[in-house]
Amino acid sequence: MSAWCCVNGRYGPIDEATVPINDRGFLFGDSVYEVFHVHDGRLWAAERHYRRLGRSLEAIGLNADLEAIRGWVDETLRQSRLAEAMVYLHVTRGVAPRNHAFPPDLKPTVVITVRPLVAMPEAERRRGVKAITVPEVRWRRRDIKSTNLLPNVLAKQQATRAGAYEALFVEADGTVNEGSSTNVFLVRDGALHTPAKGPQILPGITRDLLVETAREQGYAVEERTVKLSELFEADEVFLSGTTTEALGVVEVDSRRIADGQVGLVTRGLFEAYSERVRQGRD
Ligand code: PMP
Repeated sequence: MSAWCCVNGRYGPIDEATVPINDRGFLFGDSVYEVFHVHDGRLWAAERHYRRLGRSLEAIGLNADLEAIRGWVDETLRQSRLAEAMVYLHVTRGVAPRNHAFPPDLKPTVVITVRPLVAMPEAERRRGVKAITVPEVRWRRRDIKSTNLLPNVLAKQQATRAGAYEALFVEADGTVNEGSSTNVFLVRDGALHTPAKGPQILPGITRDLLVETAREQGYAVEERTVKLSELFEADEVFLSGTTTEALGVVEVDSRRIADGQVGLVTRGLFEAYSERVRQGRD
């Protein structure tokens, strides 16, 4: 089976599933989400993702039954019979006639989809990717994993048009926040630097796992403000994300990073992270 889904506990093929047009997720983007990587039939970093989902729900005052959601996710995955997959989980505030303010006690809509995960070709990962920069135009609570992704969608489209993999959001003062769907790291003199967690970025699960993995390997990791000029002076730049894992960036805004090759630290961390996934050490 493939591309299986669940809507409020009802399972079936993705193409046959629907939600009402008065769903607030559809009308207002009044919803939060998570994306999980499934390896060997098991949800990778499940507890971390559910903790972040809990924080997102709490931040927007949405009461949902996390235990029921966990059961639905497990069952959707089981029915899909997929071993290497991506689980998308979307929780909306529910269905009500369109009005910005929401009535109390709405029943949340929970949508879960499971799709096969196609790994990035080895050669592409070895070559590294390009990134562009775009002005930071998003709201100031980027730590909430909201489905309001219009700026991210437009930024990624701009990157795609430019032949790049990712668009990095940069503040007017040159502060680099994150990519449209990834966090960003730089390596300089054998140490890693990545923007500190806070309302300005999504606290990426892969980011945290890579920070931990790098420290285990003896690297110093500084979580702090990162400026765009530092990317151009870096020995290595890489992106992190659930499906991206650790991916070298060899060019930003058509300027080469270091020698234009994926660096040794990035490659080593990707290998260590992949091994960690294989071991299920999350
Ligand atoms: N930043 C943004 C804006 C994202 O959308 C994502 C992916 N959801 C990430 C960072 C990376 O987070 P994670 O490692 O949890 O996938």
